[in-house]
Amino acid sequence: MKYDIAIIGGGPAGMMAAGRAGELGAGVVLLEKNSKLGIKLLATGGGRSNITNIRNNRELADSFGSKGHWLLSGLNKFGPKELIEFFNKRGLKTKIEEENRVFPKSNSARDVLQVLIDYLKSSKVDVKLGFEVKRIVRIENKIKKLILSDGREIVADKFIVCSGGKSYPSTGSTGDAYKWLKHLGHRIVSPRPSLTPIILRDKFIKDLEGLSLKEVKISCYQNNKKLCSSVGPVIFTADGLSGPVILNMSEIIGREDPKDLQIKIDFFPNLDFSQLDRKLREEFNSSSKMLKNALSQLVPPRLVDTLINLSGINSQKKLNLITREERKALHHLLKEFNLTVFGLAGYDRAMITAGGVDLKEVNSRTMQSKIIENLYLAGEILDLNGPTGGYNLQLCWTSGYLAGEGALFESRFLNNYLLLKP
Ligand SMILES: Cc1cc2nc3c(=O)[nH]c(=O)nc-3n(C[C@H](O)[C@H](O)[C@H](O)COP(=O)(O)OP(=O)(O)OC[C@H]3O[C@@H](n4cnc5c(N)ncnc54)[C@H](O)[C@@H]3O)c2cc1C
Repeated sequence: MKYDIAIIGGGPAGMMAAGRAGELGAGVVLLEKNSKLGIKLLATGGGRSNITNIRNNRELADSFGSKGHWLLSGLNKFGPKELIEFFNKRGLKTKIEEENRVFPKSNSARDVLQVLIDYLKSSKVDVKLGFEVKRIVRIENKIKKLILSDGREIVADKFIVCSGGKSYPSTGSTGDAYKWLKHLGHRIVSPRPSLTPIILRDKFIKDLEGLSLKEVKISCYQNNKKLCSSVGPVIFTADGLSGPVILNMSEIIGREDPKDLQIKIDFFPNLDFSQLDRKLREEFNSSSKMLKNALSQLVPPRLVDTLINLSGINSQKKLNLITREERKALHHLLKEFNLTVFGLAGYDRAMITAGGVDLKEVNSRTMQSKIIENLYLAGEILDLNGPTGGYNLQLCWTSGYLAGEGALFESRFLNNYLLLKP
């Protein structure tokens, strides 16, 4: 059987592309190697799925960095507003949380997935689970067919690659398409893990595992020169740091040589050096409390032993006996807690893969490849990635929607569609 459009990958981008093309009347097959659709989608937002970020389209595009403008025309066609309408119309209520992040009201990624599964059904998409594409066969400038792992073939007029990146490979995203697309003539910007925890060399980190801090300032230095800095929540892991601030910073850090990098934590971002010094002096001069007890009032108790060990002060020492130098050492630790970067966690812990198909080779209005006539691309496979906060899923929804339409409009169905919908 020959399909109008064959789509590789049943993640957010592939499901949106398939649903949209099918809804408009194309005969679509969606090929997913897992036995279920949207496995990674279920893990998004800690199982709650932060589906988008509701802000104006220009700001949204800018959040993707210097290449973000590429997405703007797509966002104007199918941006957060249209996406929320899409879900609301299909019975999924949404809510807006801090920093414009949008979640399903039910806090359930499963409900998001169910809407997409229903969309595929109503769009009469032929969903094939357990279908792993192994190879793409091209003749001249067109793809002819796909070869599956069991040798079967899928023939179609158009092909949309939505196979994701390489992160969380256990969900099926194993980066299969990079080699196919390279072979087809596309330039692949080197993939690398992004939105991923930072791994530190400092052994004492292990003692702080699980400690989460609501608002600290994290700065990254390269050979003592500040590279970036941000305020927000962080969490200590067994081997380093994680949390939104760290994940977003990993995008910048990932471009540098980790051996030159240090992290400094300011536990009191709202007090400058002299304000904190005054606070410590007031505490220390007038009290005969033990240092350990006094510090527990200032910082989370789990941090106290580490701070005292690093300061070299006897934890039983009374506050009013602490010397000026000792107070200065503590002050320094509280404002510039120094850590040494080992590197970034790999694909198994990275929320997304940076890099991918060079955007210069993809039409931003239709997602059509400029290299292969009947090829379209959507989702994380593209060389575009945003920070945490719903941006990366919005990229999938927008590019998927556009690819579904683009593949259809470029095909022989265009005329029929225009006749049906004047
Ligand atoms: C833990 C975690 C939490 C996240 N939370 C959020 C969040 O809250 N908000 C947000 O915006 N982003 C979030 N992200 C990022 C977001 O999940 C991804 O950007 C998004 O899933 C990418 O969608 P995609 O459709 O491009 O690819 P994927 O979701 O990776 O889907 C690709 C699909 O293609 C299939 N496939 C691959 N190769 C083949 C093949 N050869 N044959 C057939 N099928 C194949 C895979 O099995 C997979 O199902 C999170 C990511 C992770 C890992």
